[in-house]
Amino acid sequence: MKFLAHFLPALLLATLTPFSAGAAEQVRDYPLSKISANTYVIHGPLGYPSVENQGFMNNPGFVITRDGVVVIDPGSSLQAGRMLLKQMRTVTKLPVTHVFNTHVHGDHWLGNHAIIEAYPKAILMGHPDMIRKVNEGAGVEWLALMDKSTEGFTRGTRSAPPDVPVIDSSEQKIGGMTFRIYAPEKAHSHTDIMIEAVEESVIFTGDNVLNKTIARMVDGTFAGSIVACDKIAAVKARHYVPGHGPTGNVKIVTGYRNYLATLFATVNQQYDQGKADYEMKATVVAKLPAYQKWNRFELEVGHHISLAVQEIEAGM
Ligand SMILES: [Zn+2]
Repeated sequence: MKFLAHFLPALLLATLTPFSAGAAEQVRDYPLSKISANTYVIHGPLGYPSVENQGFMNNPGFVITRDGVVVIDPGSSLQAGRMLLKQMRTVTKLPVTHVFNTHVHGDHWLGNHAIIEAYPKAILMGHPDMIRKVNEGAGVEWLALMDKSTEGFTRGTRSAPPDVPVIDSSEQKIGGMTFRIYAPEKAHSHTDIMIEAVEESVIFTGDNVLNKTIARMVDGTFAGSIVACDKIAAVKARHYVPGHGPTGNVKIVTGYRNYLATLFATVNQQYDQGKADYEMKATVVAKLPAYQKWNRFELEVGHHISLAVQEIEAGM
């Protein structure tokens, strides 16, 4: 339930406004961006799930193969997934054959419901530990969190987790295209996969890389996240689609890695000098001028320092 505590500020805000029943068919339309010859992404708004953003805040993407469409992370709800499908149909009439989910956080995968509503035969894939955690209760928790923070907008969404596990370094040929899996350990969530669409030279990073916004780190580690960034930066793909924020080239990966590494190294130094986490903030923030304008920076940086201290003390 750690992630619930993390979203508490948003939940409290949401409860101040009157309840409105969510009978909407889909979230409001967001444009498709063409990333590569056959790859498209919808860049969701930055922020926590809310009434205003209808709970939609990730970057759903898809790759059109010869035989059908491969979707990555169809959003946070039935309503978000339906919006994705509506936009998809403006560029292809092919069915969705496969879905990859990057990790257990519900803002990325609860939209699976919309995919199987429209394409019941679609194959849903994810990290084996994601599948386990959803089935152990994370799915129900995320449904409740989305319902509450959107005041019922996402109601009707069902948990439709992946049931086909994929592991590190595996490759799948789908519709003549190659999808390569990177499953970093202890990175953003302990349930992470990153998906390379090889012929498209695109990597979907999940929340192991964010751009212009700061990640929640409660379910992951700094050290593991830095390793994950290094691993996919070395691939030298042309395009990287982050879990949140704008798509870019390898510089978004190295930029995010720099945030993590600078924060973690500075906290390590301060820790060695005997400082407590609340005494470190000014020094850490001063080392991160390029990130101070990033979404959530002010909200998250103190929290990240505390988590980095915990990680050091746990010897993770
Ligand atoms: Zn996440």
